[in-house]
Amino acid sequence: MIPSFELKRNYNQVRKETLAALDKVLESSQFILGPAVAQFEEEAAAYLGTSHALGCASGSDALLLALHALDVGPGDKVVTTPFTFFASVSAITRLGATPLFVDVKEDTYLLDPQALLEAMDDPAVKVVMPVHLFGQMVELDEVMAKAKAKGIKVVEDTAQAFGAARRVGDKIIKAGTWGDIGGYSFFPTKNLGCFGDGGMVSTDDEALFQRLSRLRVHGAGDQYYHDEVGYNSRLDAMQAAVLSVRLRYLEEWTEARRAVAQRYELMFAQKGLDEFVTLPREAANNRHVYHQYVVRAKDRDALQAHMTAQGVATRVYYPLSLHLQRCFAFLGYQPGQMPVSERLTSEVLALPMFPELTADEQQQVVDAVAKFYR
Ligand SMILES: *Cc1c(COP(=O)(O)O)cnc(C)c1O
Repeated sequence: MIPSFELKRNYNQVRKETLAALDKVLESSQFILGPAVAQFEEEAAAYLGTSHALGCASGSDALLLALHALDVGPGDKVVTTPFTFFASVSAITRLGATPLFVDVKEDTYLLDPQALLEAMDDPAVKVVMPVHLFGQMVELDEVMAKAKAKGIKVVEDTAQAFGAARRVGDKIIKAGTWGDIGGYSFFPTKNLGCFGDGGMVSTDDEALFQRLSRLRVHGAGDQYYHDEVGYNSRLDAMQAAVLSVRLRYLEEWTEARRAVAQRYELMFAQKGLDEFVTLPREAANNRHVYHQYVVRAKDRDALQAHMTAQGVATRVYYPLSLHLQRCFAFLGYQPGQMPVSERLTSEVLALPMFPELTADEQQQVVDAVAKFYR
């Protein structure tokens, strides 16, 4: 079976260093915050080119902390996409705020900047939360300018795009550092993953950094003195140690993912399957880090069953647009309101994608797809 994702080959490359790093934490007995977390935060901030990075318990918490730090609450609207993982939107409703969904673009699966700009005219909009889905950045060029002009804050869900970047004018902007706060996930399958749950927020704003620092430790400034009620949401020292090792390899692994994507393109081109399968597109000016390699396929469900029978694991991200989830029924959205997102849910299929995937394995994947349509 060719897996859709696998970690074993990856771990073998860094096994020695990882075990040494873990041993160091175990010897130090400093498991909550402490030097290992501080070191990783410094390294992550340097990699991203941002002033502050702050570890937290998960990507879901990163988004929750970010919105809380911006005082998002009842009566506020947060503009975001219905075509994303659940946690992007639950962060909004958990604070009592209202998600305002905007449809996505068919070719990139990302929020449509034009629709985003229009949604920002709603006076209740406090935050825009773009999701850099599958590994490439949403086009925020005009959105950022409008947000600044209107005092709307921007929180980037960067859970799937650590290392992605975009050229804007003569600047290269890393995913998560464009808006006011970036939220990252280190869930094991993410491009930069740890060996459990983990997450991070980043910001260039000193006041937001101070607020976020308090919120992750129960809202305490000085220990046992609480100015507000916060969370228990810290990055484990063990996970931070693992992440420091893995961050050193991230560029190499990202380039390997991009090479995998390029090979898929060549292999599919040789089969002439254009009328059945649409490959993912790297938008102009973007550095796509291919967290997932998601195609749109005719007869998706039948193709997926065929692939399983052929020994190729595939996944569907995502089978139900979030505006139609039962738990969000109270928002009052109806089928047909987000036509592109809804259509994508029945067309998308994620093919195997991880840095160590071999050309032979990829050829088997592409052959299996071709066999289905012939
Ligand atoms: C993974 C993910 C999250 C949540 O991250 P966790 O670490 O699993 O809590 C949020 N948003 C998106 C788009 C994700 O893919």
